[in-house]
Amino acid sequence: MKYKYDAVIIGGGASGLMCAVAAKQKNPQLTIAIIEKNDRVGKKLLSTGNGRCNLTNASVARERYVGSFQAKLEAVLSRYDTQHILKCFEALGLQAAQDSEGRYYPLCCQASAVLDVLRFACDRLGVDVFCGETIKSIKKQNEGFCVTSHENTFTARKLIIACGSKAAPKLGGSASAADYLKNLGHTVVPFSPALCPVKVDSGVLKALKGIRTAAAVTLTRGGKAIHSERGEVQFTENALSGICVFNLSLYTRPGDSITIDLCNDISDKELYSLLQQHQKLFAALPCDNLLTGIFHKRLAQAVMKSAGVQGFSRPCSDLTEDELRIIAHTAKHFTFTVKENSGFEQAQCAKGGVKGDEIDERTMQSKKCRILYVCGEAIDICGECGGYNLHFAFATGCIAGESL
Ligand SMILES: Cc1cc2nc3c(=O)[nH]c(=O)nc-3n(C[C@H](O)[C@H](O)[C@H](O)COP(=O)(O)OP(=O)(O)OC[C@H]3O[C@@H](n4cnc5c(N)ncnc54)[C@H](O)[C@@H]3O)c2cc1C
Repeated sequence: MKYKYDAVIIGGGASGLMCAVAAKQKNPQLTIAIIEKNDRVGKKLLSTGNGRCNLTNASVARERYVGSFQAKLEAVLSRYDTQHILKCFEALGLQAAQDSEGRYYPLCCQASAVLDVLRFACDRLGVDVFCGETIKSIKKQNEGFCVTSHENTFTARKLIIACGSKAAPKLGGSASAADYLKNLGHTVVPFSPALCPVKVDSGVLKALKGIRTAAAVTLTRGGKAIHSERGEVQFTENALSGICVFNLSLYTRPGDSITIDLCNDISDKELYSLLQQHQKLFAALPCDNLLTGIFHKRLAQAVMKSAGVQGFSRPCSDLTEDELRIIAHTAKHFTFTVKENSGFEQAQCAKGGVKGDEIDERTMQSKKCRILYVCGEAIDICGECGGYNLHFAFATGCIAGESL
């Protein structure tokens, strides 16, 4: 079949759906189509926020993001701030509330509600949605674009690339945005996984599999601290995980160190005196009991091992002052060497995408081609966990839609 539209949006995810809605709200006579490769739109949205969808955050700010579009973020975030996004959703019928850390979720706590209000709005406003489409080619013509899929041909005056990044391929992640944008003359930073577990080198890791603990984590490079976070660290067979580690993964490079402070609420000195008390209490017990009541048993043993304590069958009373100091220091500086970030399958986002300076932040128009627009994760920018990435997808979707 052959179709003709004012604008065709490639990708029916967070940014593409919002773009279509914003375009029709501003300009109802525009004809708009969304072309989606999955058999339904918004599959990734349904998995966000553990099925609850953390759609924005009370402290959305430029510093929460990394990537070449960061320099232009202020212009986007000052116009499309938290309240603006919340109002957009309220107008579509979605109420949201923030948790104690400023993260906004739908009141009903269901990600499906976010998708539903976007889908309902598309229906109501007359957006045509084509699912299960495999795009064969995108060609620029004199007056617009021609998008050919296996079954259909779409011509459009304007084209919006909203097909995200390679993160989470099972939910629709693909490299298509990079391919399309490169073919249309853009510079694209290769996608790399982010907001994911970080694979690390360590003999003790295997023994820690499944343990979760509250901690402070610091990424260091050449002895210099790059980024710190607090939260729950999860140990897997070959990686460190948990939201605080996901946030570090935005900055990691192979060879960096991740130092975990396993007792971040007390100082080295306080921990040392706690260990002295434990030594007295457990004097006659084998020394691998020293950290009983402080850490998970397997974590305690790993700390003792990393501290170089020899002979776990020695009684606690046998431990020297120096050994106690080293154990306390090791628990406050439990260090792993970064191998690499886990793959796209486990990543919530990807770094990379079209170079920031090739996009006009006032309209999300390509600077190479004024009838081409880009929004969402296809742009080289990635935010921390906490609703920042969906905020960016919705904000840039709105801007692109309103600018068509
Ligand atoms: C498990 C998980 C949990 C997350 N939780 C949160 C959260 O709580 N808060 C938050 O802010 N962010 C979260 N994110 C990140 C957030 O989902 C993304 O940043 C956001 O969805 C990006 O929006 P987008 O429109 O750019 O891309 P997407 O939402 O990925 O949409 C892109 C769409 O394009 C389609 N597509 C891809 N290639 C093609 C093609 N060639 N042709 C046609 N269609 C194509 C895809 O199928 C998809 O539907 C999470 C991500 C994951 C994976």
